[in-house]
Amino acid sequence: MPARLKPLIRRGPTRRAKASAPPADPRRRLLRAMDLLEANLGQPQWDGPKDALEVLVLTILSQNTNDRNALAAYQNLVRKFPAGPARPDSLPRNADGQLDKIKLRLSDAARAVAPPRWDDVASLSAGELAEIIRVAGLPASKAKSILALLHWLRDRGGYRLEEQIGKLGMEQAMAEMTRIKGIGVKTAAVTLIEAMGADLCPVDTHVHRIINRLGIVQTKAARDRTFALLRELVPAGRAYALHHNLLTFGRTVCLARRPKCDECPLARLCPSRGKG
Ligand code: SF4
Repeated sequence: MPARLKPLIRRGPTRRAKASAPPADPRRRLLRAMDLLEANLGQPQWDGPKDALEVLVLTILSQNTNDRNALAAYQNLVRKFPAGPARPDSLPRNADGQLDKIKLRLSDAARAVAPPRWDDVASLSAGELAEIIRVAGLPASKAKSILALLHWLRDRGGYRLEEQIGKLGMEQAMAEMTRIKGIGVKTAAVTLIEAMGADLCPVDTHVHRIINRLGIVQTKAARDRTFALLRELVPAGRAYALHHNLLTFGRTVCLARRPKCDECPLARLCPSRGKG
């Protein structure tokens, strides 16, 4: 459990919290949850532009696997087609030197690891690329998605995804990117927030699970519906912090199996407490 959660949990609910029932209105319930998460986990801030193509390829590689495997696949690509000197390794690590899976953000790897030569990657066959990225799992489908993306960019004059997004505008860029098989709404939204600071809360498995458990939405398996509803509910300028706090919270407290409801600072808001 993150250290910042402990003081609140030791103190237990405040007098004010005891006196107030969970808001029935989804927007007010979400705002209460956001405030509690920020009180316990802070307000993660976007840390500036990153190469959008690197972020998108890393995010494709991370589908259905953990970030360490995605990064390993990306590093295989970089080793095969190095575009320049290696960058200093600034990735978060544990005391034993292993990548810290709680703190690791794939988008940080877009700064820490120099990109491969995209032209060379684009000229590979799907089978050749699949061999290089095999460690990330689903290599055949991920290779096809990455190649379709690179060819789409090459046909538009180069591998500068942020230029295409700038030309198209955010909504149209989302529509164009998600036309490529293997790039869904979550993957496109992650790219837009991490590379370009878009005010969106991408809905991954953690965000979808927690927002449904809290009763803010009832979207069951429809993650894209959760994304659309959150776009209506989250106040301007707070989506980035919400996304990252829900990721941390989902990895440490509101786990997929056996959520730690006894330690949860959102328990008084949550109709699912004790049901995990
Ligand atoms: S009370 Fe339990 S199910 Fe609800 S948000 Fe907290 S950990 Fe998740």
